[in-house]
Amino acid sequence: MSNKHWFKGNLHTHTSASERGPGDTPPEHVSEWYHDHDYDFLVLSDHNHRTILDGTEAERAKWPHLIPGEEITAAFGEVPVHLGGIGTRELVGQREARTLVETLQVNIDAIEEAGGLATLNHPNFKWSYSDREIIATHGAWAMEVFNGHPGVNNEGGGASPSAESIWDRVLASGRRMFGVATDDAHHFQGEFGPRRSNPGRGWISVRADGVSDESLLSAMERGDFYASTGVKFAELEVRGREIVIELETETELQLKYRTVFTGPNGRELWTTSGNSARFTLSRSDDYVRATVYASNGEKAWMQPVFGD
Ligand SMILES: [Zn+2]
Ligand SMILES: [Zn+2]
Repeated sequence: MSNKHWFKGNLHTHTSASERGPGDTPPEHVSEWYHDHDYDFLVLSDHNHRTILDGTEAERAKWPHLIPGEEITAAFGEVPVHLGGIGTRELVGQREARTLVETLQVNIDAIEEAGGLATLNHPNFKWSYSDREIIATHGAWAMEVFNGHPGVNNEGGGASPSAESIWDRVLASGRRMFGVATDDAHHFQGEFGPRRSNPGRGWISVRADGVSDESLLSAMERGDFYASTGVKFAELEVRGREIVIELETETELQLKYRTVFTGPNGRELWTTSGNSARFTLSRSDDYVRATVYASNGEKAWMQPVFGD
């Protein structure tokens, strides 16, 4: 039997530690918020800034495990190009290039050179870039399919696809890319509301053998995690070609659940209701992924399972 456990973490949050802001709260208190809300790990991802806390043992006990990183904050002209640098060994900062695709690529490369996992953040923020640009790059580990900031247009709009549809198009091109949900939290003070950038909205749960940089980052690199805005998996296994899902149900609110298995470009392969789901990949499936919808609007995204 495996002695791995699920560990909850947020990869994207801001503090007041960097001059550019925009977090309203010092990193010690941001970290305390996440610890008090049952997070096991956290990346303090300030703009082009490594926010590293060296607390006493007593202080560290009040924080989740802190993985070093930053939000690489670059631009191509007016177009923002933001990437998560997760688990980096040193400051990465931002780089410029002659085209949008090159700007993405040089910053992805810089994160890799610093030993980190590169995340493509909020592609629909100011409608920065889409599947076409992502497919033209290589090396990014994941993209944000959900970001809790109110200004990032997760759902798409007009003729522009949702972040989740962008992910499906990227996967349909044959690219292996994982999907993450994050907070991008700025506001820990004052009222919490839908137009403010508050914490606790999107996270990942990683299946690892312990809470260390090495265990968590290697599990993340393998894709052994799911992304969520509230739905939890009790079991999430791939046995040969079969995907086995068991949900951790919310009994008090009597929530109901629907699990949808999709293939390339989001094509629906199988939908089932209830607290468990199974799906067997056929020989012709390039990849399959599952999304769980709860009746209160919360969701969870399994990572794609590839046919080969
Ligand atoms: Zn950003
Ligand atoms: Zn951010």
